[in-house]
Amino acid sequence: MTDFSKTRALFDLPQGITYLDGNSLGPLPKATPARVAQCVQQEWGGHLISAWNACDWMAKPRQLGDRIGRLIGAEPGHTVIGDTLSIKVFQALAAALKLNPERRVILSDTGNFPTDLYMAEGLLKLLPEGYELRTVAPEAVAEHVTEEIAVTLITEVDYRTGRRHDMRALTALAHAKGALTIWDLAHSVGAFPVHLADCQADFALGCTYKYLNAGPGAPAFIYVAPRHADTAEPALAGWLGHKAPFAFDLGYTAGNGIDRMRVGTPPVIQMAALEAALDIWDTVDMDALRARSLELADRFIAAVEAQTDLALATPRDPKDRGSQVSFRHPEGYAIMQALIARGVIGDFRAPDILRFGITPLYLSENEIDQAAATLADILATRSWDDPQFKARKAVT
Ligand SMILES: *Cc1c(COP(=O)(O)O)cnc(C)c1O
Repeated sequence: MTDFSKTRALFDLPQGITYLDGNSLGPLPKATPARVAQCVQQEWGGHLISAWNACDWMAKPRQLGDRIGRLIGAEPGHTVIGDTLSIKVFQALAAALKLNPERRVILSDTGNFPTDLYMAEGLLKLLPEGYELRTVAPEAVAEHVTEEIAVTLITEVDYRTGRRHDMRALTALAHAKGALTIWDLAHSVGAFPVHLADCQADFALGCTYKYLNAGPGAPAFIYVAPRHADTAEPALAGWLGHKAPFAFDLGYTAGNGIDRMRVGTPPVIQMAALEAALDIWDTVDMDALRARSLELADRFIAAVEAQTDLALATPRDPKDRGSQVSFRHPEGYAIMQALIARGVIGDFRAPDILRFGITPLYLSENEIDQAAATLADILATRSWDDPQFKARKAVT
């Protein structure tokens, strides 16, 4: 069992701040600066080019992939890190369409994060006529999984509302209709236990700078089910996905299994930060994390509803949500700015969502209560109704 009263001490959080934005950018683990400095000074500085072998840099994308794999229920050897999530969406989608060549429709939903949809649109421009991205309401996905669908491209947890799809049921339905599934785990990995192998997901991807706390610019990961690993065709045929990168052949031959989803040189310094972050995750019992996350989320919902008339945007039923709580208010942006000015950091998503990430590794009941009370005070006194809180910044 993980002792969540102890894990907070592993993070470097500024004094006086309640951080409810770990679903967007996780905080700094205390061990990260030294690990990154060691990578830069000793590994890079000391070993120069030989560090690729001496420090095992080349093997790290697979090693780190497997450590993430435990959190998402992946079979060992089928997850690899690299690039950004947007790139991984493109790779998975291109491979899935090739694996289901008789079909032309990608099914997604309007709760998806725009980059996933943009990447699909961009890919469609490269494909022959007849391919289509069909985007339906999140509640209507199941009824649109028909025998026309080649692949579903679904983000398990909606970044705005926190609504969660039923991965097991949708995957089974897609398979029954002859479709493949791609699951975006951006708001799932590190938020609750995921069971990719058990649900028979085909492809999955996610980022490591949100709940996993690997820092801004940290690499993404991709999972390909073992049954597709040697047939999935890599659309981004980079040299490190080649079967023998150091043979320097002029022609491309895809590497074995998940290795083919590698593209170019891995981000070594960012991998050091990811390693330090995963040292914490290696010790976390994911079922205990889920129980604690729901306890804190329910406490926050109850406190906010008792003290304000904000409308809950997140489903009430725990099985239908991830680890964030969202409320709606037409003046959500200004309210969030006023809250941040008082040391409670959440974020805002257009048009009207106030978003709060619930992260058991470093949040206490007391902070949850204080955050709700501060939010209530801002609403009761209308302190948000001030020009300083209304000017939109570039990043909301
Ligand atoms: C955060 C997020 C992304 C971000 O993609 P990057 O390429 O890492 O910038 C993509 N998809 C979803 C669903 C996200 O929540």
